[in-house]
Amino acid sequence: MADSRLAATLASIQTNNAWTIEQQTSICEIPAPPFGEAARGKEYARRLAALGMEEVRIDSEGNVISRLPGSTASKPLIVFSAHLDTVFPEGMDVHVKREGKRLTGLGIGDDCRGLAVVLAVGKALRENKPQFKGTVLFVATVGEEGQGDLRGVRHLFTKELKGQVDAFISVDGTGFRITSRGVGSNRYLVSYKGRGGHSYGAFGMPNPAHAMGRAIARIADIEVPQNPRTTFNIGTVKGGTSVNSIPIEVSMEVDIRSESPKELAALDERLRAALQFGLEAEKKRWPNSQAALELEIKNIGSRPAASPGDDLPIIQAAFGAAKALKIPAFATGSGSTDSNLPMSLGIPAVTIGGGGRSPNAHSIDEWFEEGDDAYRAPQMAALLVAMLAGK
Ligand SMILES: [Zn+2]
Repeated sequence: MADSRLAATLASIQTNNAWTIEQQTSICEIPAPPFGEAARGKEYARRLAALGMEEVRIDSEGNVISRLPGSTASKPLIVFSAHLDTVFPEGMDVHVKREGKRLTGLGIGDDCRGLAVVLAVGKALRENKPQFKGTVLFVATVGEEGQGDLRGVRHLFTKELKGQVDAFISVDGTGFRITSRGVGSNRYLVSYKGRGGHSYGAFGMPNPAHAMGRAIARIADIEVPQNPRTTFNIGTVKGGTSVNSIPIEVSMEVDIRSESPKELAALDERLRAALQFGLEAEKKRWPNSQAALELEIKNIGSRPAASPGDDLPIIQAAFGAAKALKIPAFATGSGSTDSNLPMSLGIPAVTIGGGGRSPNAHSIDEWFEEGDDAYRAPQMAALLVAMLAGK
């Protein structure tokens, strides 16, 4: 805090608050549905280049990567990032509406705020040039949200920057929060398939809907620990063709989560046992039927769980930055963000909020209010980046 260039960096972040909000709004008006982030990525790359970032490029997965020049060494290598994608499908109206201090728009908090914070920090560091040792990569990732299954950050850590990154910071969403643990999840599309037939005429054969019902009843009764928090959900149930037909196929989507890799694996095993039970019990119900009944389990998403612990230096640095800026009410928590991937590889990682308020992320009336202290989040981010890059 005594470093005059760093102090100037923090001051200019506050001065540039309106610029940051403008970035947040305009970037958000470029659609970025899952697997369709290219237009937003291209514009984001252009803005990073305009700030004077070096070696701006878009990798083969679609991540935008750029390098902050002026460092005296290549190590440590810090990745400072936000995610490009939203949860909203193609074709939705991405216009941002401003009413007083409230901005309403798809993804305006998650993660247009994060994208704006990354730009704000980049601008302030470029203009005020505090000296630090390492190199900072300013990055925007693709595929953070559900269906994307962390494909962007996975590509970064397993291919593009494999073995090179010393610390990872993600700015995701709003508020003043530090996410130090990664919730792991497995997602499945489960199908039961049979021969099907007339409800009256073909009665007496295994029914895929009945098999799935038996499995659901088992799953609903699974006991999970509260700590580490472990959860399960059957989110969709589909199938059948008419009320008087034995269905040929029924399916459901299941999501299981835990902060602990061990608990996630244990729950996964119990889930599979319940699914198998549904199949066997329904077959047994009709021992004389020749009709087949099959179970298919398709993985549609996996995020690794990790709980590195709050004594990790990167978490302590985040707390230190918050404390130095007198940012109130910080809590560490667990989340499902880009940081899950590096955390699971043992690379120090943290996800921080971008400031402001946006309580209804992922909903079609998502809004953001900056309040009077949202700028303190990019200030904290800048301080954290400087601390990790080293003097
Ligand atoms: Zn997000």
